[in-house]
Parts: sequence; structure tokens; C-alpha cells
Amino acid sequence: MHNVLVPLYPARVLKCFLLLTVFAWPSFIAAKPSAQFKLKGAMGERYEKCLEEWLLTAPYANPGMLEMYRMRNSDRVNIVPWYGEFSGKYLTSAALAYTMMPDERLARSIEYVVDKLAEVQDSDGYLGVWPDAQKFSGMSQGNTKTWDVWSHYHNILGLYFWYKVSGSKKARKIMLRAANSIYDYFYLNNRLLDEAKDGTDAAIGHAFALLYELTGEKRYLDMVELAFKTFASDGGGDYFNDGLRSVPFYKMKRQRWECLHALETIAGMYAITHDRQYLLSFANIWRSIALGDRHNTGAFSSGESACGNPYDLRGIETCCTIAWMALSTDFVWMERDSRVADELELSEWNAFLGAQLFNDKVFTYNTPMIGEKLPSTTSIAFQRTDLSPDLNCCSVNAPRGFGMIGQWGARATDEGVTVNYYGESDITLFTPSRKRIAIAQTGNYPFGDRINLKFSVAKGYKGNLLLRIPFWSQNTQVMRDNKKIENVKCGEYLEIEGLRNGDEITLIFDMSAHYWHGDRELKGKSSIYCGPILLTLDQRFDSQGYSSTPTLDLSTLRLSPAKDNTDSQPRPYLLIDASDANGNHLVLCDFASAGYTGTSYTTWFPVAGNQVPVQEMQPWGDRNISKVGK
Ligand SMILES: [Zn+2]
Repeated sequence: MHNVLVPLYPARVLKCFLLLTVFAWPSFIAAKPSAQFKLKGAMGERYEKCLEEWLLTAPYANPGMLEMYRMRNSDRVNIVPWYGEFSGKYLTSAALAYTMMPDERLARSIEYVVDKLAEVQDSDGYLGVWPDAQKFSGMSQGNTKTWDVWSHYHNILGLYFWYKVSGSKKARKIMLRAANSIYDYFYLNNRLLDEAKDGTDAAIGHAFALLYELTGEKRYLDMVELAFKTFASDGGGDYFNDGLRSVPFYKMKRQRWECLHALETIAGMYAITHDRQYLLSFANIWRSIALGDRHNTGAFSSGESACGNPYDLRGIETCCTIAWMALSTDFVWMERDSRVADELELSEWNAFLGAQLFNDKVFTYNTPMIGEKLPSTTSIAFQRTDLSPDLNCCSVNAPRGFGMIGQWGARATDEGVTVNYYGESDITLFTPSRKRIAIAQTGNYPFGDRINLKFSVAKGYKGNLLLRIPFWSQNTQVMRDNKKIENVKCGEYLEIEGLRNGDEITLIFDMSAHYWHGDRELKGKSSIYCGPILLTLDQRFDSQGYSSTPTLDLSTLRLSPAKDNTDSQPRPYLLIDASDANGNHLVLCDFASAGYTGTSYTTWFPVAGNQVPVQEMQPWGDRNISKVGK
């Protein structure tokens, strides 16, 4: 055992490694998915379009995704330093989507990519797009450092998710050979990962943590340790130690969004060791981002970094939000804290769906709080080549937002069934002992207040039911078989004893308006939510335009369904008339529909001072969110 970990690394954890290494590893069996979701309603409709228009077509319509590997030692066009990530991000998005909703056509698209990667992998396991002389720590044609290790990270991650759901021996072989080539290059040759690339090299620690969990092979743990050593090095972000010291992420030495994937190494180490130091560090970092850098849309980052100011109006990259959702997905099952899933719900329905654009094929690069949504294929067109006209970091990464629902949405253990995701869907869960729990969700939530859950429970199941009650829903009604459950509290899980076959649960959420009052650049303005949905003024539905909205009196604001007088397609999921006692009047839509056709929008509205009764509602402490009556 190489004791090369960071200074705060405890001796008892090393002992724990030894025990785990010897005793804890089952033989390889690709796990059948423990959660499948057939998404319906708005989320299902958007997913179906992404499947048809992107997941089933992207590798064929963009042959450069794979041909750039084959051409790596030949003359070819210039490519961006991170080009190799495109295949990996595609695989991760597609494999998680498949895990959630199996589809034979999607399996064929994924296998096509896996087959091509097998063909182009070098004899030493190298799985990159750069010439032999530039492997791993070399330079691109533009004479900048390549992101080769980062690209391997994404390819290994995508292959890992595909192996987990399909059991593909080919995927496993490519994945482990690629991992071994990195181990040989760095660990055996005493090379350090390059943290000057802002977490892009060190993110490989996350992949190695997953591979160590999967195989128990010590060399993979060696690489996790190397990632921790890189964090603690002079040029490193020191995320783990700073997390233990409660330093907010934006004050750490490195704050770019790519570091979030490096941070996932800490979550990976917690999964391996169950040592609470990793949980503490990770939780502190996660909460600091939720408090300081998560915008009103549920998106993360300003100008591709953390800055400790959610009112910062710089661009919000889709990759950053996906990384934030991945971090939250790691966190959601670590502690029994329903507010982590509240965050994911906010991100899914607003920032993520709001980044999907009019032809349902492309996503944005930037999804601002105020402005316009433009396709990533035009706003970051420098990443394209003629062989890959649709590819850029965000176009391949964004669809992961659908598949992540399968990871955070629900779970069954022998002790209980937890439901985090609410929305029309058919969910099938399996406990570790393969007991089947099916949940049929019907109702109009989140664009209405009601969701019904009907359970089909395997014989002999003895677990309880845990229902997420969102932090904003102060008066939630919950009925079990038409009998009201008392003492339902918001911001925590409601535990219902003894889940039974045929159980029917109805939840009616408190959809009265709640607000986030802005500060700094957005002082004097507020955001308005209806449940988890951020209300937005889009010039498509309200011609007042975002720069000339009237000052609202929130204390008398009334929300009511608005009549859509336009025939503009597609229809919004929610259209609300917001009126105050002074005769001010706005027509607001849901953030996912806002700017969908290229129009301008805003999510922040001028409000009059001293009019808002303040009742703290924000789950992360001192952010000024309040709630008023219906
Ligand atoms: Zn991106």
C-alpha cells in the first residue's frame, strides 16, 4: 500500500482499504439496472425528441467523433484540445438514458461507438486523438496543452456506464486497457497529473475510484491516491483539505467548472472507504456551491467558474450545470437530506430543460438568467469540424440530464423505497435482493399541484416509503388510500410505514408563489417560482420586453392561469397571469419554454422595496428567499 495520500488522510482509512481489498470484492457481474423510468409528460416528450434527433443519430451524422482517433498520426484539420471528450460524453449520455429507458435502437448506436473505439485503441491501450509523440501530456496543433487525460476520463466513464448496464465485455476491455495505459504513463513513470489544467487531468481520479470499486485492483486505488496528491500539490486546488476546513469552493485555489468532476473523486473515496471525512469535505464543498454559485434557474457557474455570486450575469455554460447535477447525483444518496433532491428537481425542470432548443437536437452553450438562448452549434461553433458539424462540449454533454433522472429519481432498498422525482412516469425499481417495486405516477405536477403514485410491491417486501416533501411546499397534503396523513413537514422526507402492494398515495403540493430576492447586480429585483418552476417573462407571450417591466408589489401579487392569445408553437407548459393591486400585469411562462424560439426573456423582475413579507425559505441558510400568500 502506497501511503501517498494528502496530509489529513487518517491511518484508520488505510486499514480499511486493506480489509476491503482482501474481502469485499464480488466477481464481475454486470448489475441489472436498479431503477428504470419511462418518462412521460413534458419530460418524456422532451426526452423522446432528444432520443430521436440526437442520441440515435449523432455518431453517424458526425463521423469525426470517431474518425479523429483513426487519423491521429496523419495530416488532418485542427481540432480543439478536448476533442476526444465528445465520444465519451456521448456514451455517458446515451448509456445513462439506456439504463433509464432501454431501447434496442439506442443500444445499437452505443455499440457502434464502442466497436469503433475498439478499432482505434492503440496497442498500449491509449484511447486518444493525439499523435504518438503527444500522448497524455502533449500539445495540440494550436500549440496549447491537450486535454487528453480529461478525454480519457469521459471515455472511461461512458464505457463504465455502458458496461454496468449491458455487461459488454468489449466495453469493459477497452475501458480497463485505457485505464491501464494511464496508470503506466503516470504512476509507473512517476509523472504527476497536470493540475494547471484546472481539474481536467485530476478528474481521472473519479474514474479510477469507480474502477477500484468495480474490480478491487490496487493499481486503480494508486491512481485515486495520485489524484489526491495532485489536489494537495502546490498548483493543485486542495479541494479535499479545504472542504474539511469549510472553505467555500469559489475561494479555493481552482474554481473552474471542470474541477467539479475532479471533486467527484472525493465522493468516490467515500464510497470506497465509508470514512466520514470524505463525506464531510464533499458535503461542505457541495453546500458552498449551492449557496454561492447556483443561480435562480438551478444552473451552476458564471463565466465557466465559481465566483461566490449567484447574481453574476455572465454566461452559464450547459456543461457546468451538467457537472453540478452530476455532483448532486453523487450526493443525493449519501445522506438522508431531501433538499439535495430539491436541488436536482430545480436544475432538471429549469436549467436543464431550459437549455434544450427549438429543434430539440441541440442544446445551448449559455442559458442566461436574462437574455436569449442560442444553439451551442453557433455560439461555440469553433469546436466543430466538417466531419463533426454538430459536436461541441455542450451538445454531447447536455443529454446526460435526462439519464441522471434514473440515478437520483428513486431507489429501493430492503429497508425502504425513496421517491425523489415527481412527474408522469412509470418507474420500476429493484432492491439489492431483486424484489420488484413498480410505481405509476400520474398527475399534472410540476406544472400543476398534484401527483398520484400507485404502487405494485413484490410479495414479502417489508420496507417503508420515503417521499420527498420539497422545501418550498409549506402546506403539502398527502393521502394514503384517500386517508389524510398528518404532520407533513417541508424540506424533509415523509416516512410512511409498511409499503403495501396496491398502495395509492396522492400528493397535493403548495404551489403558492415563492420568491428569491436579488442582491448585488440584481438588487431590487426578485424571481418568482410556482412550485419548482421558475416563472419567466418571454417576449413571445408578453410584449412588454424584459427591460421595461413594471415594478411589482409582491405583497398583493396574484397568480392565475393565463389565456394564450398567440398561436406560437410549441406551446408553453405553463402560462401564468401575474397581477398586483396597483394594476401591474405580466404574462409569465415556465423557464423551459422561455426563449425556446429565440425570443428574449428575463427571470428577474423589479419589485418595490419594503413590501415583501420575509419568511426564510431557501434551504441553504442565509440566502434571502421568502414566501407570501396565494
Ligand atoms: Zn460545454
